[in-house]
Amino acid sequence: ARLHEQTVALSITDPLTGVPNRRHLFQQLEAEVNRATRYGTPVSLVMIDIDHFKHLNDAAGHRAGDVALKQVCGALKHSVRKVDTLARYGGEEFVVLLPQVGRAEALEVAEKLRRAVEETEFEYGKVQPGGRVTISVGVATLPDDASEQAKLVDAADSALYASKRGGRNKVTGYAPGMEQHPGRERGPFS
Ligand code: GH3
Ligand code: MG
Ligand code: MG
Repeated sequence: ARLHEQTVALSITDPLTGVPNRRHLFQQLEAEVNRATRYGTPVSLVMIDIDHFKHLNDAAGHRAGDVALKQVCGALKHSVRKVDTLARYGGEEFVVLLPQVGRAEALEVAEKLRRAVEETEFEYGKVQPGGRVTISVGVATLPDDASEQAKLVDAADSALYASKRGGRNKVTGYAPGMEQHPGRERGPFS
């Protein structure tokens, strides 16, 4: 039974950062969206992508990149509640799931996360454009911006890319029409 427990824990944990992986995030998200829909409560999703991370890898090396990735994760983790799920969504992307949190509060949390990373000292921060490691953030809330799980993820992703286009190191809340924009490099599940 203990071995099974360990196997389950490993299958939902990101080995580099120790936080839940994308699989676990989607399990939690499904449960929270179901709960929110049933009880008419909100749920918010904060999507985070490190700015110019390829540059940090190129300038300081992949190992320094890994250290920075862990440091970003630590700063994020420090700034969320126990009931929130911080997950590594992909390479240098993180998501925070905020159960029973509406749009205004989610934007405040997102801004706190942005600032936490901006204020973290990174050994190779100076090599980055702007001289710091920063993140871009997108926020979406159910039921305001989406009525189901996939659309909520899409909306947060679109808002994140609006932050990128707006100059990075920014927080953006989803607004209708953000889906279509030129130069979008990838969809939410790639
Ligand atoms: P942007 O500001 O537009 O997000 O630029 P970016 O350079 O961060 O974006 P891009 O998607 O081009 O590059 C992401 C980079 O993240 C590419 C990849 O080398 C790096 N990366 C992804 N996962 C890891 C990882 O586990 N460790 C390290 N060191 N680098 C990673
Ligand atoms: Mg990325
Ligand atoms: Mg990036």
